[in-house]
Amino acid sequence: MEHAIAAKLRALTRLQIIDSNLDKIHRLRGSLPEEVNDLLDDLEGFETRKARIQSEVEKLQGDILQRKSNIETFQGNIKKYTEQQNNVKNSREFDALNKEIEYSNLEILTSEKKIRQYQDQIKQKKDLIEETEIKIAEKRHNLEEKQKELEHIIQETKTEEEKLLKASSEASTQIEERVLKGYRKIRENMRNRLAVVSIDREACGGCFAVIPPQTLIELKQRIRLIHCENCGRLLVDETFFEEVNAEITEMHLTTI
Ligand SMILES: [Zn+2]
Repeated sequence: MEHAIAAKLRALTRLQIIDSNLDKIHRLRGSLPEEVNDLLDDLEGFETRKARIQSEVEKLQGDILQRKSNIETFQGNIKKYTEQQNNVKNSREFDALNKEIEYSNLEILTSEKKIRQYQDQIKQKKDLIEETEIKIAEKRHNLEEKQKELEHIIQETKTEEEKLLKASSEASTQIEERVLKGYRKIRENMRNRLAVVSIDREACGGCFAVIPPQTLIELKQRIRLIHCENCGRLLVDETFFEEVNAEITEMHLTTI
């Protein structure tokens, strides 16, 4: 019985020490991974905006071509009607042609006005594209810097992280699922990510609540898992914690 509990405590303490070392590595990376992701999102947004404005410009350019071709058609018509006016039989026919010419001139004026409007809109949109391109360049530069920084830290800590990840998963396999779930849950809820703590001068090493003398005796006996009544962390006595820490040093894993 006692042996089983001690083994359980040993596995959990070992896992905590290994995970704390992993936490240390992740703290080194800080908010960089998040910043990189935010920048990637921003970049995608700006690229989408740029593509949208570009397609609007293309649509307007198409509209201008359409209007220009309309103008040519009506100019052709005017030429045709003016020639026909030379061969009319009466003034009614002449007037009818005149009406057609007037209509064609109005159409040409309208199209010319529209073309000017489209050209103005294109100019505005091109300015917007330019602004967006500047923003894209800024974000891209920023992203490259952050990625380089992150890459550097990852490179520096990669071997150690891999070693620790392997050790962490090995240590996990020695702990029953239910206990492991409890461990992870406590870790998630704690700012310092500690679910297993050593006693520190008769107090909980996590929240510093004083531990009753009876509990201190039981901790040394290792006959049951004892959680801090104040913070819920699993408690182990100092000697035991140091012992496991030393074991980990022998495994050539960095210790806390
Ligand atoms: Zn506590």
